Amino acid sequence: MNPNRTIYAKWILPVEGEPIEDGVIEIVDDLIHCVRPQREREFRSDKDAVSNEFNSYANTLVIPGLVNAHTHLEFSDLKFPIGAKGIPFPDWISQVIRWRIEQQQSDETLIRKQKAIENGLRESYRWGIAALGEIASAPWPIPHNDGREKWPLVRFYLEQLGATQEQSNERLTAVRARLDDIAPNSFSFGLSPHAPYSVSPDLFHGLLELARTTNCPLAMHLAESKEELQFLSEGTGPFADLFEKLGLLRTNEKRLTLDESCDALAARPGSLLIHGNYLNSKLIARIAKSAEHVQIVFCPRTHLFFAHEPYPLQEFLSHGISICIGTDSRASTPDLDLLKDLRSIAESFPDFPLEEILKMGTLNGATALGFDTQLGSLATGKIASTLAIELDSPIGRSPYEALFSGKITRRTWI
Ligand SMILES: [Zn+2]
Repeated sequence: MNPNRTIYAKWILPVEGEPIEDGVIEIVDDLIHCVRPQREREFRSDKDAVSNEFNSYANTLVIPGLVNAHTHLEFSDLKFPIGAKGIPFPDWISQVIRWRIEQQQSDETLIRKQKAIENGLRESYRWGIAALGEIASAPWPIPHNDGREKWPLVRFYLEQLGATQEQSNERLTAVRARLDDIAPNSFSFGLSPHAPYSVSPDLFHGLLELARTTNCPLAMHLAESKEELQFLSEGTGPFADLFEKLGLLRTNEKRLTLDESCDALAARPGSLLIHGNYLNSKLIARIAKSAEHVQIVFCPRTHLFFAHEPYPLQEFLSHGISICIGTDSRASTPDLDLLKDLRSIAESFPDFPLEEILKMGTLNGATALGFDTQLGSLATGKIASTLAIELDSPIGRSPYEALFSGKITRRTWI
């Protein structure tokens, strides 16, 4: 078979398989036909490398498009995160609620939200994101693309909140109706009970049942802050104060527990546990028993924004739990550049293998979102989602080091 497009690059990092120096990717009908070393004298000149635009062949490496497993794109128009670095998580949630209330006072709310999501998709594509997992909040506007723009593939997890039992039926009916409405759309969908402290047991189990009957995967924020653990175990602390202020505190009502949430999610194939910053060893061991079912999303720069305790990355990995990476939203990180998050892991965990970090930001994310047969690595039969990274100096013998610490002068879809 003749390739109808050929990419040459100084280094190719296919993620599945070893890096290839002086490598070639043959593409047929936008699918990868093969990835291989160049044949002798295959390059006519450096200008042939990668594409005509790329003439600094010696400084270029090619990786698969990145996968951002966790975003809230409705915040994509924010110029700066909400609150100052180091803000306690419950204070940040209060400010986010205030921001949402201000937004809702305008008739333009829904249009603004849809435009912000569209801007977030554009920004993500510019950073080299091939797919993302989006937590979409009610009333779940769906972005519109007239086909002229390239956007990442998206799995929209329709989020629902409702901490009191009386809200449960109405919230379930709303999400069920919206799912029926938009299911024929070309996007992929999932469901997201927001978090154990913001979802009643009835709503949580209702969403799980809806996920089962509609064959949707689940994503849920879990053990994100110490204050969440305090509220779940004792019903006190900053979250209790916040709910009281909002008129949502019900002292006699049954609350969801962390154990119950973890066990139920771990039992469903394709579940995404978001953050897990404060999961204890006992729960990590329990989740590990369903390691083939679940992935955990780590959001490195958002983690640093909140000044949490160190992330239990090694503990998850030593239990065989797969990790994928997200930016979270621009309400807690300055941009949606997942490569900066990957570089942040390399800085925070200097002994961690760089090839594993790239895998978390590509193949693991694609698997978590159910896109791994199409994306996540440069392998035969997958979509040719190829990202060229150009650096300001020769790459030498260490392509991963160049990717994680070199000065990037350009990144381009090729
Ligand atoms: Zn989130």
